[in-house]
Amino acid sequence: MNTFCSIRADADDPDLAGEGIEEAFSELKRVESLFSRYADDSEITKINQDASAFPVEVDAEVFSLLARSLEFSRMTQGAFDITIGTAVDLWRLSGSKNMLPNQGEIEELRGRAGFKNIVLDLEKQSIYFARPGMRVDLGALAKGYGLERAKAILRERGITEAQINLGGNIYVISSRPQAIAIRNPIFPEEVVTSVDLADEAISTSANYERFFTIRGRRFGHLLDPLTGSPAKTDILSASVISPDAALADALSTAIFVLGLKKGSETLKGIRGCEAIIICGGRWGKKVKIYKMKGGSESEGN
Ligand code: AMP
Ligand code: MG
Repeated sequence: MNTFCSIRADADDPDLAGEGIEEAFSELKRVESLFSRYADDSEITKINQDASAFPVEVDAEVFSLLARSLEFSRMTQGAFDITIGTAVDLWRLSGSKNMLPNQGEIEELRGRAGFKNIVLDLEKQSIYFARPGMRVDLGALAKGYGLERAKAILRERGITEAQINLGGNIYVISSRPQAIAIRNPIFPEEVVTSVDLADEAISTSANYERFFTIRGRRFGHLLDPLTGSPAKTDILSASVISPDAALADALSTAIFVLGLKKGSETLKGIRGCEAIIICGGRWGKKVKIYKMKGGSESEGN
């Protein structure tokens, strides 16, 4: 997943904690190989190679993630969209060539993307692309799903107190709330607020860690599926808290892309999650922090 991971587990029996941590790490490696778009033999590589030509049968785990991804797209009016893969590749290549992609190329890719062009067959457990040359990228969900799996392994081992940190996406296993710090997206070494988590995950999407630089200009790594280009958003960072770690991951990406107004509207329709959105502040205030509950109207600073 091209990121760091740390796991801390507390148990009366240190051997139990150690074994649990090792197993959770192996599980994360397995999840990574499932998602990789660059390994020759991953399920995702198989899909991207063949699903434009014929329906590709995939294993049950990948199929259910694809189905969840489409559900997340519907929940976010398409702001989360795994068919963004071709555009991600184009921008990545442009970054390495230090050349902006031309609008014609972006339009052409946009024409053959869109989650509505993914055809899933539940009975055959297969995926087919309705437009040629589509590619899926589950990168915006992979860390959340990884957390979900690592958490399940630790729980199965009887561990009741643990914290898994996968590239800044955190899952807290605990019956008592644990404070998790949220960074200032402008000065990441500074903490601006914190949230209490108990048996929940937090995922943060921001541009301060990953971006492309083209001709001295910085472009964020999160793309707006509507334009096929880096999202023009007023959000500096979007964190989502939920017991469903994959949902938290997908939703943090989507809210970031949607911006404050549309992002908060979208959140109102989704129960079982909370968001902390950080935007640039006015009148000398460095940042403005909005805390919201999914499925409600509440808002604050
Ligand atoms: P995250 O770190 O969870 O915000 O996910 C980042 C990765 O998601 C990027 O590196 C892209 O591969 C992918 N991505 C970018 N924009 C989108 C989008 N709008 N929907 C889904 N995936 C995206
Ligand atoms: Mg994400």
